[in-house]
Amino acid sequence: MALTRYKKKRNFKKSPEPVGGTPDGDNLRFVVQKHHASRLHYDFRLEMEGVLKSWAVPKGPSTDPDIKRLAMMVEDHPYDYRNFEGIIPDGYGAGTVIVWDEGFYELAGADGKDKKTQDKALRKGVHSGKLHVVLYGKKLKGEYALIKTHGKAENAWLLFKVKDNYVSKDDVTLKDTSVISGKTLAQVEKSTTDNGSKRAKESSVNSKKETSLNKRSDAITASAGDKKEKEEKTLHHNIVAKGKRSRFPAKIAPMLAARVDKPFDKEGWQYEVKWDGYRAVAFCNNDKAELKSRNDKSYNEKFYPVHKAIEQWNIHAVVDGEVVVLDESGKSNFGALQNWRSEADGELCFYVFDLLWLDRKDLMQIPLSERRTILKQLIPENSIIRFSENFEVSGIEFFETAKKMGLEGIMAKRLTVSIQLEIAQKTG
Ligand code: MN
Repeated sequence: MALTRYKKKRNFKKSPEPVGGTPDGDNLRFVVQKHHASRLHYDFRLEMEGVLKSWAVPKGPSTDPDIKRLAMMVEDHPYDYRNFEGIIPDGYGAGTVIVWDEGFYELAGADGKDKKTQDKALRKGVHSGKLHVVLYGKKLKGEYALIKTHGKAENAWLLFKVKDNYVSKDDVTLKDTSVISGKTLAQVEKSTTDNGSKRAKESSVNSKKETSLNKRSDAITASAGDKKEKEEKTLHHNIVAKGKRSRFPAKIAPMLAARVDKPFDKEGWQYEVKWDGYRAVAFCNNDKAELKSRNDKSYNEKFYPVHKAIEQWNIHAVVDGEVVVLDESGKSNFGALQNWRSEADGELCFYVFDLLWLDRKDLMQIPLSERRTILKQLIPENSIIRFSENFEVSGIEFFETAKKMGLEGIMAKRLTVSIQLEIAQKTG
């Protein structure tokens, strides 16, 4: 069903993460997992349509209605994920997970409507970007809102407490143990690594009701996931093979955009958001990386969180992108970027849009669309490094939408010729 993206990202031969599961009972369930991946975050998941709709919340939920937390919508997770606790080995989402909170939930104002009716209204809420739910958890109780921000990042939402009897100024994340095992993240990490090679698989707390039939169907889905991953690897390999063998470049001047007055529609072009920030090229030599301006000036110190993130990325590649500061609505704020000195000045983010070199191959002569296919596969989870999406719409339509949203403009890029990018369009 909706789990294609979930399966595509994971190798179930290595990862103990669940692959399936069917909801039972008359009540909707929610779970919040605390996940120590490359960055600590909380995964907020709501049962809907038989799967878990998921948001990654970097700072975790708050019980104070004045505190709105950024929640990035991520891929749907299988229903059985709500019981998952343990270690995800190297690869996608690597790190330790505990079930920080769980319980039932309902649509706010459900008035005794049945699960199916609520489910339908909830899905509508996801679609329209506005959800109000009432949680019956062990730590989280009462009404919470999830509201999609109107801005550039298409998956950015805000999670916050709605005023009711469960409001509190206390920091709920200080309660840091699992509601399943009673363990903290550190304890789960320790107990599982102590077990040596048996670790992850056995430490995961799987659904107790799991029948052998379920296990079998899980195995079948897992091998489908593997097949997909294999196909992806072959595609990746075939694309990179077209590149010209070359040494790790010391310097690259990124292609600059030409400006045109009017939006247009042409075959063979794609359209992206124009970010209002500083152009930056990341020279990632595995865990040693350099972040440079388009004039070859170092940004390592100036934008140290981005520098840290590209070192943690740990790839052998040269990536082209834009450093931006995002405001509450997910729009880039150039003024805030110019004055940026530390985290207190705003949320830094590195939107990447092109992959120029990878694993000893210069990719600049192969089509942009192919480079971006690989780049998208490389994007780390829950990082300030994000993929700058392109939109499958007409340039004119996209330009009008961008204008309405108050964006600076759009970028039009040629897909198949050996250049990086071409035309920027300015609104207003
Ligand atoms: Mn996560």
